[in-house]
Amino acid sequence: MSLYAQEFVDFVNASPTPYHVVNTVKSKLDADGFVQLSERDNWAGKVKKNSKYYVTRNSSSIIAFTVGGEYTPGNGIAIVGGHTDSPVLRIKPISDQKREGYVQVGVETYGGGIWHTWFDRDLSVAGRVFVNEGGKFVSKLVKLDKPILRIPTLAIHLTKDRYVKFEFNKETQFRPIAGQTAEESSGCCKGEELTESEFQSVKSVVERHSKKLLDLIAQELSVEVSQIEDFELILYDTQKSTIGGLNDEFIFSPRLDNQVTCYTATTGLIKSTKQLATQTGIQLISLFDHEEIGSQSAQGADSSFLPNILERITKLTANPEVDLKSELGSSYFLTTMSKSFILSSDMAHGVHPNYGENYESLNRPQLNQGPVIKINANQRYVTNSAGIVLLKQIGALAKVPQQLFVVRNDSPCGSTIGPMISAKLGVRTLDLGNPQLSMHSIRETCGSHDIEKLVLLFESYFEHFAELEQKIVV
Ligand SMILES: [Zn+2]
Repeated sequence: MSLYAQEFVDFVNASPTPYHVVNTVKSKLDADGFVQLSERDNWAGKVKKNSKYYVTRNSSSIIAFTVGGEYTPGNGIAIVGGHTDSPVLRIKPISDQKREGYVQVGVETYGGGIWHTWFDRDLSVAGRVFVNEGGKFVSKLVKLDKPILRIPTLAIHLTKDRYVKFEFNKETQFRPIAGQTAEESSGCCKGEELTESEFQSVKSVVERHSKKLLDLIAQELSVEVSQIEDFELILYDTQKSTIGGLNDEFIFSPRLDNQVTCYTATTGLIKSTKQLATQTGIQLISLFDHEEIGSQSAQGADSSFLPNILERITKLTANPEVDLKSELGSSYFLTTMSKSFILSSDMAHGVHPNYGENYESLNRPQLNQGPVIKINANQRYVTNSAGIVLLKQIGALAKVPQQLFVVRNDSPCGSTIGPMISAKLGVRTLDLGNPQLSMHSIRETCGSHDIEKLVLLFESYFEHFAELEQKIVV
């Protein structure tokens, strides 16, 4: 089995939330010598040729870039875009509920999940917690490793139609159980007592959530419950991502959409840096939060994050002799954009053996046959022929086969970040991604051999884009 498939499985197991994804990507970049920049700082003098950087926003989106040793101002930028989030359940602001002797935790649906797949799974909790450390509010990552929660189905004997159709109410019948109330009140849990008489503008977390749950989080972070100011906590399936199939040809896993991109783009970028000294362009990956809910947030693909960073990079790498206020100087950004390219990478639909009729008759991607170029005349995917010509060359250099996908005319079509970032920046874009089954299920399936293919394709793109770009004129 390829090293990349195993590395990817480890990546997913370390990354139950977008905060963890960014953290996992960061540690890979740190290990390769990338330098962290902050949007709060002045970057003058900090961005140099033949160097590697990254910057995060909200700790849930990340942009990493490398500047070629032979970079000339105005040269294009080879970009890969993806997303860090997946459909999940998130703990509500006031979540402590008690019913029929059970402790329940109120959850909110995030994105378009196949929610029935969340029933009867062994769930746990992970996310970001703000901790009060002597008046300073520090954000910490938390991941409880043991199964704590479960959304139980109703026994088949008690259903009216024996589950001929499995339907449920997402508010009233989709509440996880976390324990029994007898246990909570019998003093088993050392949750903080509410002796505080001070004025509180918002109810404290102790009043809003299960004491025992807070206790476990505090324990995991080695802090007191009273230090927990607030958090974003997400439910995740404790069953680990794994390689499967008769010949290890599959990966059975949560969050393939879109951690496959987060892993392969990061790995491809890092691998391409061995050529950095002689590269003439800038190579960049941009992994955004909030794709699953439409990308409109301060750190989503529809935000200022990528445009802001691109503007800073092009200004800082401009020739110092050129007055940035002159026409030539101010047009650096625009000429750079016109020479740049975005590979918008998100998972694609592999053909399903039991639902073959739901796929178009000729365009039916197979698992393990390589990344899929996604095409849609109505621009739900923004691929055009110029992009396909470019990707064909890049794939040929890396010996990576590619497949083509289009939906049936009588089928709805997904979309991703490609249309919005290309419209915002005016940059040529192509939508692609590895094929998978069960997109948006709590447990999805993809081909284990496709992980390496996408890594090699991205590596080849970062290495060869600058020379190929000049040959494909639109
Ligand atoms: Zn996606």
